[in-house]
Amino acid sequence: MELSKDRVIPITGKVQHYAWGGFYYLPKLLNMPVKKGETYAEFWLGTHDRGSAEFKNGSEKPVSLKEYIDAFPEQTLGEQAAKKFGRLPFLLKVLDVKDMLSIQVHPSKENAQIAFDAENNQGIDLAAPERNFKDNNHKPELMLALSEFWLLHGFKNPKALQNILREVPELHFLVPIFGGDNYKKLYRHVMELPQQQVDRHLKTLIDRNLIHYNAGKLNKSKEDFWAARAAITYSHEGHVDRGIFSIYLFNLVHLQPGQAVYQDAGLLHAYLEGQNVEIMSNSDNVLRGGLTSKHVDLKELMKHVKFEPTVPNIITGKTVESERMVYPTPAPDFELSRLNIGKGKSATLISHSIEIFLLFSGTVEISGGEGAVFKRNKGEAWVTFDAAHTEVMALEDAIIYQASIPGMK
Ligand SMILES: [Zn+2]
Repeated sequence: MELSKDRVIPITGKVQHYAWGGFYYLPKLLNMPVKKGETYAEFWLGTHDRGSAEFKNGSEKPVSLKEYIDAFPEQTLGEQAAKKFGRLPFLLKVLDVKDMLSIQVHPSKENAQIAFDAENNQGIDLAAPERNFKDNNHKPELMLALSEFWLLHGFKNPKALQNILREVPELHFLVPIFGGDNYKKLYRHVMELPQQQVDRHLKTLIDRNLIHYNAGKLNKSKEDFWAARAAITYSHEGHVDRGIFSIYLFNLVHLQPGQAVYQDAGLLHAYLEGQNVEIMSNSDNVLRGGLTSKHVDLKELMKHVKFEPTVPNIITGKTVESERMVYPTPAPDFELSRLNIGKGKSATLISHSIEIFLLFSGTVEISGGEGAVFKRNKGEAWVTFDAAHTEVMALEDAIIYQASIPGMK
């Protein structure tokens, strides 16, 4: 592998065709042909093993960004990030959620390390379906809505939770189990309930919801709407998915475009519908808690959930320079910014460590210090390496998402 003289390079990302994805949003954003019946769930820009970004380096065959960073860590990441992370610490994504995703939680860094080692010691194959920990890293996530976006995000506060258990007849039996504040007992109870009892408790609720759903009488701000949709999306040979309980226990959050939320270790969440930009640590560690056909390991799940109420913190972005808005989080691995550059204007950017840019709309011309000049259209991306000086000139009004490592000098 050869070191390029350019420190600013156009890259291509990787589309993931998970079954829950939509049909048109990503192909339109990325200007790619739509294949009939194909779903387009996620677009990845990063160096993940299941889909690294690539670029041309003078040769015909594309170079993997992951292999390039592995070969030249200091020249790409810079000394500081090479020492701290040794690799690109984040993954930038665009998601198009058509069908609701599984309820999930991510481990803390410390717990991920312990659990990953334990599964290795037990000799569980990395690709085995019962394998929980694919790596030893945490996976905090920031998601920024590109459309109206619906999600489940942490447990409701005690009062709201108490109220909904009282309001919904089929959930009355949970009132004494919750006892006003026992989140762990309540969650364990619904997750351990024998399947026959899950079916028995939820059957009338689902039947009623489905009648109203099909008549168009439920709206998205009601848990009943999502419970009906979940029953349609996830029924297991006539059995009810116990994840439907969680729809009532968690905060149902409705984000407007431009609003973001942060999901740290231990917070139960599920994406229900919409499009977003997501940035996360470079990890695959997901523990599922229903609304899924995949493996649910309750014992392991219970170890990683924070049993406490969550007040959803809606992050609206902070203007730091006239053209740049940042969405701050406590995560040490990533920072997401949004750049708005008006037609005919330009911005000068200096990279401290590696950065990835996605042009969300408009057309720009990029000039790097070493003479690289190239044009990028909507849906196209580029990477800048440590100490790169870049001039971004907007040929049309441009919106750019920028992924960086915070606190780099
Ligand atoms: Zn997640």
